[in-house]
Amino acid sequence: IGWWHADTLQAYAPICLGLEDFYFRRLYWRIQDCFDRPISGPPDAWFDVVERVSTDNNKKLKRTTKINRCLNLGSYNYLGFAASDEYCTPCVIESLKRFSLSTCSARVDGGTTTLHNELEERVANFVGKPSALVFGMGYVTNSAILPVLVGKGGLIISDSLNHNSIVNGARGSGAVIRVFQHNTHRPWKKIIVVVEGIYSMEGDLCKLPEIVAICKKYKAYIYLDEAHSIGAIGNTGRGVCELLGVDTADVDIMMGTFTKSFGSCGGYIAGSKELIQYVKYSCPAHLYASSISPPAAQQIISALKVLLGEDGSSRGAQKLARLRENSNFFRSQLQKMGFEVLGDNDSPVMPIMLYNPAKIPAFSRECLKRNVAVVTVCFPATPLLLSRARICISAAHTREDLINALEVVSPDIALQHHN
Ligand code: PMP
Repeated sequence: IGWWHADTLQAYAPICLGLEDFYFRRLYWRIQDCFDRPISGPPDAWFDVVERVSTDNNKKLKRTTKINRCLNLGSYNYLGFAASDEYCTPCVIESLKRFSLSTCSARVDGGTTTLHNELEERVANFVGKPSALVFGMGYVTNSAILPVLVGKGGLIISDSLNHNSIVNGARGSGAVIRVFQHNTHRPWKKIIVVVEGIYSMEGDLCKLPEIVAICKKYKAYIYLDEAHSIGAIGNTGRGVCELLGVDTADVDIMMGTFTKSFGSCGGYIAGSKELIQYVKYSCPAHLYASSISPPAAQQIISALKVLLGEDGSSRGAQKLARLRENSNFFRSQLQKMGFEVLGDNDSPVMPIMLYNPAKIPAFSRECLKRNVAVVTVCFPATPLLLSRARICISAAHTREDLINALEVVSPDIALQHHN
């Protein structure tokens, strides 16, 4: 972006569209950011700094003037494993003592511990694939793997709402990208259809059975990003295949991240032994990046054990049931209150549509004043006039937490407040 464009945008954008509050101030800052001028943020949950987290899914936000203890309605901590867990946390501390925080090495250069191997075996078993490979970051898993799987002469059919990490991976691959519909595979050496299990900004499930049928017909591969669905939906937390009754053998590449339901960090792909072997020897993010932190790997292993009941308790099943109950309760209550809520039943991701980007800071600020932290989303993450507050529900929320949050977002309360 050049000076001329930046100045023009700064001068005219707010006037042209008449949105004087937040959105264009944010655009203004982004432009200023490009030129290294000081930036500041409006008082909403996005820009606040978290001082500490607590086990009951509240978080403390450190503000310049005061510290607010907030109910966190924006975290991907779907199963409540993040922060502290009676089973996982002691195992993680033990692994820290045994392996240290970082391997300081790539996987192929001494960065593979027994934890890494155990994790990959467990992930493959959990998602129902013969083999798996883990990476230190979910984002990188998508952006580095797609270019390894498909290149020039290939075709990627990508859902228009796919995550930025997929978009970047697709762009970096050199393949032709078509956004979602195409009806012939003939000119292409390889076709990969890339979809998400639960769409992160929409909260809805992908239509996996239909997609599988089309891919079989056109001999296309399926790449399924389960960042938000693995560990969160399905009777035993195995994601969208389990929920929709799709055979995992019909999904060629299963990808997911550990930053949501598992309360850790990193990402994985799972597929056939041949596929994983191929990626191992050709993916730069595997060959040249330091491996996932051992305590992070231990956290995932322990969370998987809890989910499968291997900790000797039924907490895993209870967490899944609780997440489902909480999500369905909150969604139906919001709908009864007249909100337009996107997403499908069972999905813990529920965007409340605000449409006009100017409403975003007001919504966020008013919630924050009442100690509820929500994530608000606008362009470029969504189309310009489809701004929303994106609520994420957790098994760690109590019914009381949710009722309190409903009271906070209730239009009646907002009305009383203004009067
Ligand atoms: N895929 C999807 C669908 C996501 O929503 C995200 C991030 N929320 C990622 C990949 C990247 O994962 P991570 O934050 O673990 O790097």
